[in-house]
Amino acid sequence: MVWNFQDSYTKLPSIFYSKVNPENFSNKKLVLFNGDLARELNLDFSKYDDHEKCNILLGKNKLDKNYFSQAYAGHQFGNFTILGDGRAVIIGEHITNNKKRVDIQLKGSGQTPYSRNGDGKAALGPMIREYILSEAMHNLGISSTRALAVITTGENVLRDKLEPGAILIRVAKSHIRVGTFQFGSLLKNREEFQNFISYTISRIYPEIDNNNNDKYLKFYETICDLQIKLVIDWMRVGFIHGVMNTDNMSLSGETIDYGPAAYLDEYNPKKVFSSIDKMGRYSFENQSKITLWNLARFAETFLHLIDSNEKTAIKKIEDILNRYKKLFDQSWLTMMSMKLNLDTNNNNEEIVKEFLDLMHIYKLDYTNTFLDLENNTLDKKIFKNWEEKYKNNKLRKFKNVNPQIIPRNHIIEEIINEVYSNNYGQLYDFEKILKNPYEKKENKKYITPPLESEKVFETFCGT
Ligand code: AMP
Ligand code: MG
Repeated sequence: MVWNFQDSYTKLPSIFYSKVNPENFSNKKLVLFNGDLARELNLDFSKYDDHEKCNILLGKNKLDKNYFSQAYAGHQFGNFTILGDGRAVIIGEHITNNKKRVDIQLKGSGQTPYSRNGDGKAALGPMIREYILSEAMHNLGISSTRALAVITTGENVLRDKLEPGAILIRVAKSHIRVGTFQFGSLLKNREEFQNFISYTISRIYPEIDNNNNDKYLKFYETICDLQIKLVIDWMRVGFIHGVMNTDNMSLSGETIDYGPAAYLDEYNPKKVFSSIDKMGRYSFENQSKITLWNLARFAETFLHLIDSNEKTAIKKIEDILNRYKKLFDQSWLTMMSMKLNLDTNNNNEEIVKEFLDLMHIYKLDYTNTFLDLENNTLDKKIFKNWEEKYKNNKLRKFKNVNPQIIPRNHIIEEIINEVYSNNYGQLYDFEKILKNPYEKKENKKYITPPLESEKVFETFCGT
């Protein structure tokens, strides 16, 4: 047996999930397999050929056949909706040798009771995108769901055009999200929701004492902390999530759902890639505000447990959120100071702002401009005055905070187009190169910003 499944979610009241049978596909092919992650999870596939690997990865050898999709709700672009996994099925919770529990989830294996009008499928392009982006995120040292494999199903799915269908095998500490709590808070049976919260705490944050009355506030603060760290890290590497709906905010603090996600090329704080984000709600600079907005929606779901007096409960949450807003601004400045190699004990607000403004005005590349600073190759025409101020403040040696390489949009698009013409070479090269994103790269192609003609202006959810 490869898996060590010990499921806990299916022991919860059945309102929280639905049992689902993933579809069978006869013409499967293993396109991507993450050997490093398999080893981390103590999964030994060495005895199996690709065909058997596919079947195991899809959970075909699971004895109890207990596969399930999760129920949840969410604020999508500010509007509350009941959702649930429309195209995702958890085949089991795998326990690693050192007792870590992870969800093993198939994304794109067919319809579920929550599919609404969707086909429950996924196209190969977006699944390759998620594999590359989520693994790059992890390798950048930023918390993320992981990608264990991509398997093509052998059938086509209809999007704007027909595309090859595929399944991503996603690994996460848990898939419980703000939206799961929003769903739970609607239940008539309050006790069921309270038990669900206890389940979540003991599953994701076992260090919080579940028997203590202050556990709700501790839990809330832990999640605020992790989310803020996460978004600061996104901003450090120029990442735009693109759909920060409450159903896409994981309570384990992992980046989840890479639909229209993309990295900045040229710096523009208002940048949006997602084709459906017409108002710029989830733009690069808005990510901090939206995080706090989502955290407020999260708190609303269990206010009654924080204090029986609603006003007192609201005050407690407001105090925390105000504190976190301040912390966010401070942490952002510290992070930016580190990117510029400045002493974080000083107030660097002005020098940071001026640097960003110059980048913005001159449409400079976010990743490479920080590297130019490291390499002393900044454009003197632009930065002469700024460098005058900088030279008195800078520290000696840069820490490893500025990535040498990010998965740029135009490269991902090119790779997907090549895969669609049956050419996998560049995909495998790029996957390897992204394993060490802080190491200096010689390969000019992947570190050069796109030419005007290569730029990708819009990304799609790929649904
Ligand atoms: P997302 O924007 O990926 O977070 O998806 C929002 C909701 O739509 C979730 O409930 C998804 O499970 C569902 N969904 C996305 N794509 C599909 C699809 N192809 N078929 C069915 N449901 C989908
Ligand atoms: Mg989602």
